Formats: sequence, C-alpha cells, structure tokens
Amino acid sequence: MRTARLHEPGQPLRIDEVEIPQPGARDVLIEIKACGIIPNMNAIFSGKLWNQLPPLPASVGLDAAGVVVKIGSDVTDMAVGERVYVNPWLACGTCAYCRAGETLLCDGAAFQGYFGFFPRSIARLKEYPIGGFSEYMTASAQRLVRLPPPVTFEQAARFGYLGTSFAALRLAGVGAGSAIAINGITGTLGAGATLLALGMGATRVLGFGRNRDVLARLKALAPDRVDVLALGDAPIADWVRARTGQLGVDALIDCSGRAAAAATTADALHALKRGGVAVNIGALTEPLAIEPMRFMTARLQLRGSNWFTTGEGQLMADMAGAGVLDLGRLETRAYPLARVNDALAEVQKRPGGLVNIVVNPDR
Ligand SMILES: [Zn+2]
Repeated sequence: MRTARLHEPGQPLRIDEVEIPQPGARDVLIEIKACGIIPNMNAIFSGKLWNQLPPLPASVGLDAAGVVVKIGSDVTDMAVGERVYVNPWLACGTCAYCRAGETLLCDGAAFQGYFGFFPRSIARLKEYPIGGFSEYMTASAQRLVRLPPPVTFEQAARFGYLGTSFAALRLAGVGAGSAIAINGITGTLGAGATLLALGMGATRVLGFGRNRDVLARLKALAPDRVDVLALGDAPIADWVRARTGQLGVDALIDCSGRAAAAATTADALHALKRGGVAVNIGALTEPLAIEPMRFMTARLQLRGSNWFTTGEGQLMADMAGAGVLDLGRLETRAYPLARVNDALAEVQKRPGGLVNIVVNPDR
C-alpha cells in the first residue's frame, strides 16, 4: 500500500510503498478514506519542538476516518463495513494514571502517526506504526468512533481538534444558556469550539481573533448568538461585559497558539464572570501573569485540557448525526495522497478554522 512517510525532520513527506499492516487480536484494519491536516503539523514534523518523533522513516497522519475491512480474532463489538473515526490517542495502559482509568493523563502517551509526549512513548508508536496518510492502518477497536450516516469521512477527519474543543467545553460546564468567550476564535480549535458551543446550547458565544474575514464568517453562523471582536478594536473585558449584562462569561476557552501573546489571555481572563472557568487548549507557551487574589475572591478557575476520550468522540459523532452539531459549516478542501505536501503547505497559509483540509488516500 501507499503511505506518506517522514524521512528527515523538516523535509517534505515521501510517498512510499509498504506492507499492509495486519491487525492484532484486539485490533481492526481500516481502509482510510480521509485524514485531516492540522496547523501544528509542519512545526511538529520540523523536529524542533519538544515532541518525540517516531522512529524515522515514519508513516504519519493524525486524524483518520475510514471503513473497517478486517477485525482481529478477539474483537466482538465492531464489524467489517463499519464507518469509523480512529482516535489516535495511544495510552500505555499500565502507568499509575492508566491503571486509575485516567488515560488522558498517561505519562507514556503518544499520537498514532504523529508524535510521543515522553521518551517512553516511543514504544506505543512502534506498536501502531502506521499513520493516517496511508491507504490502510490498524487501530485497537476500543479507539474507534462509529460514524452515523450523515457524518462524512472528511468531517470526521476534523474530530481531533473538534474533540479537543469539546472536552474543554465540557470541563467548563458549558451547556444550555451558557455565555462563553473564545480567545483565538478564528483558528481550528476556536471555530470548532464555536460550532460545538452552539450545538451544546450556549446562548452567547463571544470570540476574539485577528482575521476580520474569518471573524465575519463565524458571526454569520448564528448572528443572534455569536459576536466577534477584532483584537485591538476594543478592550476585551469591557467588550464582553457590554454583551453579557455586565456579568461576564461563564467560561473562557483559550485557543491562543504557541506563539500568541499571553497578555491577550490575561485580558480575556478579566472577562470571566464570578465563579467562571477558563480552559487552555491552545498550547500558549509565554508565561501568563495572573492575580491569585482575584481568582480566590471571585472563585475563578484556570485549567488545561489535552485531547478527549473516545467516548467524547462518540458523543460528537452522535450530535453531528442528529444535526445538533452542524459540521456542514466546514468547507472541505481535499487533496489526493500524492499531494500531501501541498495540503501541508496550504494549512501554513492559515485559511481559518472553518476550512477543513484533508487528504483522501484512496484518490
Ligand atoms: Zn499510561
């Protein structure tokens, strides 16, 4: 089969021929129909960040969706022909966190087809060495999300970033009637958080970002519920309070990226209502100044969140299947496998979070 492999950090991927992997007893073999391209991918593949790259050359691709074509001997709840999204989160299963059932805290975790978080994560990447920019891959059956018929493979290939936003919204208790703010609303995480918050019943979604064109498109998703601010046009907290009866928001989802300014996040924290929760999912690296006394007296929370469970992936799929989550608002731009490097180049142009760039390995 064909797969895209990273041979050298920072160099273009190469399309190579490799053996079709065989599923273990608890695994399935999936014929991949779409795999997502995400903004951080070029930076990770540069090898210059903290992440542990898989042994090279490495078959890569993070968010794959496709059809189950073969099941392992011990797989009971999944059948050939099922349409699935593959949660690439590989937990070790044996560390103190995994044994306590907290697989998202695993200290040997890795993303199949992408990177490991710790040196010991490499063992997980060797166990599942094929990424989503391939014609086939194996995955354990417990990592599969069933896709209802209305959910396309291309939409499912966005589940990684959608799920990251979804888990953050759930941690913040967002639901019917919530007022939320999204810092970095124009990016992949921010646009996903907007679609999800609307589906979860939030009545006010107040977002800030830089790209005015994308901001206008996000506002148009639900003009009565979404409002947007171009950073620099007004002080964030004042702008939010003017739209929430001076109370502020129940939750802040901070999607600001690795290179963003922490000062914007600090300003956005002032938009929280008393008792509000801020969740960071954007990998902001600059140190952030906060005032602990204000967090005490206003009973505020600031926490981080990374990825999501397969169960949360299934909830999203079911929401999309029922029409509660409108993934039809994403604009898919599909590339054949042979043009995977062009797809990676396009994401660098920052087309905005409503654009969904995918690779179709069967084309
Ligand atoms: Zn573990």
